[in-house]
Parts: sequence; C-alpha cells; structure tokens
Amino acid sequence: MTITEVRAVTGWADEVRRLARERDAVILAHNYQLPEIQDVAHHTGDSLALSRIAAAAEQSTIVFCGVHFMAETAKILSPDKTVLIPDAAAGCSLADSITAEQLREWKAEHPDAVVVSYVNTTAEVKAETDVCCTSSNAVEVVESIPADREVLFLPDQFLGAHVRRVTGRENLHVWAGECHVHAGINGPELTARAAEDPDAELFIHPECGCATSALYLAGAGAVESERVRILSTGGMLDAARSTSARSVLVATEVGMLHQLRRAAPEVDFRAVNDRASCRYMKMITPEKVLRALREGRDEVHVDPAIAERARASVQRMVEIGRPGGGE
Ligand code: SF4
Repeated sequence: MTITEVRAVTGWADEVRRLARERDAVILAHNYQLPEIQDVAHHTGDSLALSRIAAAAEQSTIVFCGVHFMAETAKILSPDKTVLIPDAAAGCSLADSITAEQLREWKAEHPDAVVVSYVNTTAEVKAETDVCCTSSNAVEVVESIPADREVLFLPDQFLGAHVRRVTGRENLHVWAGECHVHAGINGPELTARAAEDPDAELFIHPECGCATSALYLAGAGAVESERVRILSTGGMLDAARSTSARSVLVATEVGMLHQLRRAAPEVDFRAVNDRASCRYMKMITPEKVLRALREGRDEVHVDPAIAERARASVQRMVEIGRPGGGE
C-alpha cells in the first residue's frame, strides 16, 4: 500500500468512527469482510458471536457488515435496536437455497420430524424451525433429539453429511443446499495442496465441500488424521493461537485469513483455494459503510410475528451445547 493509500484508509476509518459516535452506533464485521472493514469495526467475529454482541451492546444502532440473514438475526435478537446493513442486496446463496414455502412442503411430508436449521437461513425459515444450530453445536443439537424422531436438517448438505456421519443417524434427512463458495473447495484440490506441504495442518470449515473428502482421506491414511481439524470460524481463531504448526492450509472463505494472520502472525496461513471469495460479503465496501452511517441505510426490518417465532428457535440453539461458532 502506498503512503497516499494509507492516508486515505486512515482518513476513512477516522470518519467512520466519528460518524458511529455521532449516530450512537456499534460497527460489527463478519470474518469474511474486507480487511479494512474488519479493522475499522468495533467487533469482528462469526455470525452468532456478532448477534450476541449486538444484543448486549449499549448503543441504540447496530451497523452489521455481513450478509442479510446475519443482520436479520441481529434484529431478531435485538428487536428494539435499529439495525443497518450497508447493502441490503448482500444475500447468501446458502440461505437462498430454501424458502419458507419449500420448508412447509417438506414438513408436510414428514409431519413428526424435528426441524434443525443452520443459522444461514432467512427469518421466515427460522420461524418454521424447531431448533437452529451452528457448525460448532450441530452434532449436539441433533443428539439432543430423541433417537426415534425423524430430523429434517437444512440447508447445507455438507454440514448435514458431517452430522449424519458423526451421529450415525439414519433418520436424518438433509436438504440439498450449498454455498457456492464452500462448494468450490473440493477434495482433489485439498489433497494436492496437502501433498505439496506435508508439514502443514489443515483447518476445515464443515460447510466446505471438501470436509467429507478430508475426513475420508484422513481415514484412508492419505492425509494423517492428526493434521485435519474441522472447526467453526471462531474455533479456527482459537486453534490458530494454540497451534504448534508453522504452516496451516485453510479451507474456508479467504477473508478468514486476515483474522488468522492477526491472531498468530508467526504462522504461515494459506488458502486451499484462493478463489474462495464470497461475492455477497464483498458487496459491503468502505464507501457503503460511510453511506450507512451518514444516511441511516439500509435499515433491516423483520415482521414482529415472524421475529418472535424465529427467536424461539434461535434461543433453543443457545440453550443446547456450545453456542459459539457458526459461519
Ligand atoms: S460464503 Fe457462502 S454461506 Fe457464507 S455468506 Fe457467502 S454465500 Fe453465504
């Protein structure tokens, strides 16, 4: 970065923080946001950690730098606060892979099933859900359901496959949704990268298309199982601080590398696929963060009746197992 660019970023950051004070706003940034947005935010983290920070914040306004379902979750948990997202069009291909109508039809085919939804879902889908889960507690949430009850697990097929494998549960039905970013990180690429760097640890997010291949490869002895760690994004940061490895291959969205490098500067973190960048996350730009603070847009609204039902499924998640994690 040139001196002029550094000055421009510093001036922008000062202005963002000044406007945040003026508006009584707290700025939250997801781990997949652009580095300069992560650096200017008051807090960075995964979607659930940020929602909990939002609910506990003293400020009356939350500026949520992430994708829409995350800002919606913050609004569900903090209905009295103003929640702003710098661009309301920042969606999520995983959350969009199932609508409330599709879920109602699926439930009608399995009337006694318990519905478990990953947090990457819209408020309407959460309102049709019995329990939400994160990637950290998905297994515990499913294990808390009596073994003879059917389970509908949605929307992520890779996380669903991981949960089914760990629990050995045959009556777990998985929705065939996927995130275009995680699906792009595949087994062959992972194997090739792991072979190139035999001393590296592998940090894998369970939504990645490669997670099940990684577990299979580890089981077959192609990649030693002790090198493979399946972690939520929050879990990756804890593991980064405690790892003794000198290099780590990371299988998730590339924005995560910024926080990992900050957490453990002496470790060489590299992406398994450096094209794994979420175009929705990157719709939140420095200019739009300024606009959000200056103009109070885009405000996130959730119908109060839907919010109340969605809140119940999110609260059940918090009551079961380790609530941290999520994307
Ligand atoms: S990385 Fe995938 S799951 Fe995450 S916000 Fe982007 S599209 Fe959604």
